[in-house]
Amino acid sequence: MAKIELKNVTKCFGDVIAVNNVSIEIYDREFLVMLGPSGCGKTTTLRAIAGLEDIDAGNILIDENSINDLSPADRNISFVFQFYALYPHLTVFDNIAFPLKASRVEKTEVERRVLEVAETLQIDASLNQKPKQLSGGEMQRVALGRAMVRRPKAFLMDEPMSNLDAKLRIQMRSELKRLQKKIETTTVFVTHDQIEAMSMADRIVVMHQGEIQQIDPPQKIYNQPKNLFVAQFIGSPAMNLLECVLESKSGELVLSLLHTECSFTLSEAITQKMMQKHKLSKIIFGIRPEHVTLSKTPIDCQIETNVHLVEYLGAAKIIDVILGENNQTHSPVFFKSRVHSSFQVSVGEPVWINFEERAIHIFDQESQEAI
Ligand code: ATP
Repeated sequence: MAKIELKNVTKCFGDVIAVNNVSIEIYDREFLVMLGPSGCGKTTTLRAIAGLEDIDAGNILIDENSINDLSPADRNISFVFQFYALYPHLTVFDNIAFPLKASRVEKTEVERRVLEVAETLQIDASLNQKPKQLSGGEMQRVALGRAMVRRPKAFLMDEPMSNLDAKLRIQMRSELKRLQKKIETTTVFVTHDQIEAMSMADRIVVMHQGEIQQIDPPQKIYNQPKNLFVAQFIGSPAMNLLECVLESKSGELVLSLLHTECSFTLSEAITQKMMQKHKLSKIIFGIRPEHVTLSKTPIDCQIETNVHLVEYLGAAKIIDVILGENNQTHSPVFFKSRVHSSFQVSVGEPVWINFEERAIHIFDQESQEAI
């Protein structure tokens, strides 16, 4: 069990700033997931915690003590590599015992600790089997057992499931989350897969170009993205984004979508909030596909458009429409709506789109920050 803190950590490789002034407090027993596109600095951050990279600036602490000068072996942290990286010629017992034997731990103590870990992971009945006789879930537990047997303060995992097929990955996600809660060991897990992050994390750290964009529980990351990067990165299909002009007309804030003729008046509550914080004219308007409703007849103030593409996903359909096809000044944009699969519509058919004010996101075009 351990609390890990990164304080203003920076790591460069020549001219590349891989990790830029990163500060994170990882709580004791937390399952923290680092998420971001390739090259954003996730692995370098993880390797810095493990002591596999020297940092150029900042401080890394475990339980309030700086570990900057400790070697990887003295940090008492286990790096869990790919879950299938087991020794095929060794039994489950010997696979788990391997790190202890390498450290010349006494034989009876090795036996005691391997049995203890195997019982916790419920693989004690398989101790004499070889990896090829195990299911995917059992192999994952053996790999974790090998990391646990050293009794580390924390686990670091770098895309451990990347080589598994899609079905097994889904199974492993829930198994790993269940195990982490059972063994109560602080875990930092790196992935570029947002579904993996959303489904397993207590909190997600979203990184981009070496910098932290947001640290929050999955629900908050999804519902209240702090900036345009997070808003676009999280969610599939991605959030619809449109340039807008915000104008004050007779004391009311009016949002005009540039790609259509449509303008709508914002409620007083949102107007007050925006007026207090910012004096903005150009903003980005965002709405998630599941919050865009479609109807086949015009009701209330809605935007008329045509269906461009229908993707059938089983329980749902993703409908692509085009906004501003006839607009002379702005190029048209695609807008996606996620609807129930029972909604029958064909390509080319006219539809009217609408959304509720409480579901919209507004971003400052210049700073890219959420308002
Ligand atoms: P990926 O998901 O592709 O592994 P990542 O988010 O883990 O990406 P890092 O591997 O931490 O990103 O890399 C961050 C940046 O640092 C990248 O620009 C990468 O090219 C660079 N980098 C990482 N390790 C080295 C190294 N040993 N030498 C030079 N540059 C490196």
